[in-house]
Amino acid sequence: MSDIAEFASAIGATGPVWIRGAGTRVVGPANVRAVESPRGIRFFEPEEMTVTCGAGTCLSELDEILDDRGQYANLGQLRHPHGTVGGALASGWNDQLRLGRGPVRDSLLEVHVVTGRGDVVKGGGPTVKNVSGFDLCRLMVGSHGRLGAIAEVTLRTRPKPRASAWLVVDSVDGSRIEELVGHLYRPSAILWNGLVCWICVEGHPSDIEIARTELRRRGFASQESASGPDLGALPHRWSVSPRAVFEHVGERVGQVIAEVGVGVLHGDQPPPTPIIDAAVENIHRRLKDSFDPEHRLNPGAGDILIR
Ligand SMILES: Cc1cc2nc3c(=O)[nH]c(=O)nc-3n(C[C@H](O)[C@H](O)[C@H](O)COP(=O)(O)OP(=O)(O)OC[C@H]3O[C@@H](n4cnc5c(N)ncnc54)[C@H](O)[C@@H]3O)c2cc1C
Repeated sequence: MSDIAEFASAIGATGPVWIRGAGTRVVGPANVRAVESPRGIRFFEPEEMTVTCGAGTCLSELDEILDDRGQYANLGQLRHPHGTVGGALASGWNDQLRLGRGPVRDSLLEVHVVTGRGDVVKGGGPTVKNVSGFDLCRLMVGSHGRLGAIAEVTLRTRPKPRASAWLVVDSVDGSRIEELVGHLYRPSAILWNGLVCWICVEGHPSDIEIARTELRRRGFASQESASGPDLGALPHRWSVSPRAVFEHVGERVGQVIAEVGVGVLHGDQPPPTPIIDAAVENIHRRLKDSFDPEHRLNPGAGDILIR
């Protein structure tokens, strides 16, 4: 029996089940049976820039294998090293380099999932051209294991940037931030709290020098830092439209940090409760019903839209 078939059989077709990652973020309810996804790298094709692995594979194991060939998979760079590939995809957590590296969901080319009925479903394909029908890969990313248990995935890999640096610019208030942003060429991150701006530049070593020179030429003195701001002290995060971040930061200078160009805000206070559109809620419910009619997968996990 293949690893995927064994995983499907462990999930079965009845009774509540929790899909266990490494548990670095979420641990399932004690009274719910837990199953673990298959582990291990199946194929790594550096020339094709794809890697296929079990969803239970540890992120640090994946990093190590890709790193040997100067590549990485964009599953969020600041995540817990002991987390799993499945956990990273199921939570769909994007880190602050999303502006340059793109969202985690773009990394997933092919996915094998076990639905609540116990069926194995394949979505996507090992190359972008192979895909037809609805994009199941994107649906699975961020679904917190409520629609399906991710068994095996093929991920797109990328070349590691040769150099990367954080440049910190002080005294950037609301009147100057847009000017600063306009003079940066493809930054990987721009974080701003209304006073200080942290910019991550990745690429060739000369790209970093060009960014620094350009900032200086425009009257922005920058200093290099080993990392971006510590977002750990700001446990709440929420999304607004990318243009709206300027206004939000302006209202709470020094209290929130915005991912400029992305539209994510990090703050120490919870955001206002989102208003959920009834039509959207209805679609989410029907999606859940069709993948997991008995609502047995990951009870209580993730999105408030999927109860
Ligand atoms: C609440 C929360 C906060 C986070 N905060 C941060 C942060 O501050 N910074 C950061 O960089 N990253 C953050 N992340 C992302 C997290 O670090 C990565 O997702 C990491 O890879 C988790 O791996 P894990 O194996 O420990 O997942 P777990 O904590 O074990 O599981 C996370 C969720 O994914 C589900 N899951 C796990 N494996 C599968 C699978 N194979 N199929 C379907 N569902 C599965 C679990 O059931 C659980 O609901 C956060 C994630 C969550 C959920």
